[in-house]
Amino acid sequence: MLRIYLRKLSSMQSVPKNTTMNYAEEFVKFLNGSHSPYHAVENMKSVLLKHGFKELSERDGWNGKIERKGKYFVTRNSSSIIAFCVGGQWKPGNPVAITGAHTDSPTLRIKPISKRTSEKYAEIGVECYGGGIWHSWFDSDLAVAGRVFVRDRSTGDVVSKLVDLNKPLLKIPTLAIHLDRDVNQKFEFNRETQLLPIGGLVKSDQVSSESKSEDTFSSLKSIVERHNEDLIKLIVKELGLESESDIDDFELILYDYAASTLGGLNNEFIFSGRLDNLTSCFTSLHALVLAADTSLDQEHGIRLMASFDHEEIGSSSAQGADSNFLPNILERLTSLKADGTDESNPLSKSFLLETSAKSFFLSSDVAHAVHPNYANKHESQHKPLIGAGPVIKINANQRYMTNSPGLVLVKKLADKANVPLQLFVVANDSPCGSTIGPILASKTGIRTLDLGNPILSMHSIRETGGSADLDLQIKLFKAFFEDYSSLESTIIV
Ligand SMILES: [Zn+2]
Repeated sequence: MLRIYLRKLSSMQSVPKNTTMNYAEEFVKFLNGSHSPYHAVENMKSVLLKHGFKELSERDGWNGKIERKGKYFVTRNSSSIIAFCVGGQWKPGNPVAITGAHTDSPTLRIKPISKRTSEKYAEIGVECYGGGIWHSWFDSDLAVAGRVFVRDRSTGDVVSKLVDLNKPLLKIPTLAIHLDRDVNQKFEFNRETQLLPIGGLVKSDQVSSESKSEDTFSSLKSIVERHNEDLIKLIVKELGLESESDIDDFELILYDYAASTLGGLNNEFIFSGRLDNLTSCFTSLHALVLAADTSLDQEHGIRLMASFDHEEIGSSSAQGADSNFLPNILERLTSLKADGTDESNPLSKSFLLETSAKSFFLSSDVAHAVHPNYANKHESQHKPLIGAGPVIKINANQRYMTNSPGLVLVKKLADKANVPLQLFVVANDSPCGSTIGPILASKTGIRTLDLGNPILSMHSIRETGGSADLDLQIKLFKAFFEDYSSLESTIIV
């Protein structure tokens, strides 16, 4: 992995040296190392560890482990992560300043049985994950990343290993225009039969390699029987395994082989997949890391960032925003006495309720920048621009959670941090997206506001975001972490 980052970094264009561009450059590195939610969480973990955060496990008791002024993180399924720093003056019942984001993006995922051949092409069966702009996947060079469960030969344990086959392995070819003269008027395709990547040509000796000797019983066909043998060989080589039989199972997704990069005539853009929503994962992570070292002595709240998997498919999973991941962490923190030991009297429940009533959730997800060629798709007074700062998302029908008290709070923070804000409301004749904001707000009762940086082509294999907006969002989130607990009681609802 490190090899890949370094190669990508050295091939990046040179950028002017100022703080904005440093974050943009850092973000491009993060994107190029985070081709799956597992990789994103791993990379976030390594930034946290570098800044002195300690890893906790949900499997353990936390009695005596949490200290005031301590910095911690915990992961679930290796695809969702919560990190927090405890104020020096923290008491159960005090507020928590929370940012939320998601680690997943629309993608194509390799099916449980993916081996296919057609007209002597080796094809890989894939399943659509989330609401992608699938036509953008045609003719892109596609690579493969995810996690593989590998049997350790010495211990017999099954361990999860990250894998990133950063090579142009697959392709979903379009049909030549000579065979479809109407393609520029109408590009339609069947997602089951035509959104199917080719991976190679079938060698004559591979055509009938289906039957294997069956000396031991296995409830499922082996990995090599279910998947393309050459793909499995590449994984075996990448992970340094002895043979294919060391692999028990995997979760692998496809991604655009073309590296994420700064772009535009002045590097004002970022061209990349997964801007939705690694943008907010990155900004909240860096804001927390900055805020972990400022005025934590005087802080009477907790500063917390959460990034969840499975937003693109509705957040209902054991590690999605609709799970008990965040509520469980809040419960654990509010059942700790000020000295860090467990408060096991019945009043601990009331501490959790007090904390929920005093806390705030900044739900951060990317927003729709106005598109110059489709400007009439936006409401005429609400046209967010790339480079002009975070966008506050408002919806009367509560697809976004912003209301006036939240807006007043964020405006105060942004005024102080010198961060321009933009307002977005969807046009009445247009459909509206949603976020993890309403899900967590209705689950926990915590006050919530939706905001995010503007991008173009949301859910395309390659989206376009703004370099300068990263720095602005980091500043805003840093101000939120530092100032929320002292501001919260001054906004009366
Ligand atoms: Zn999103």
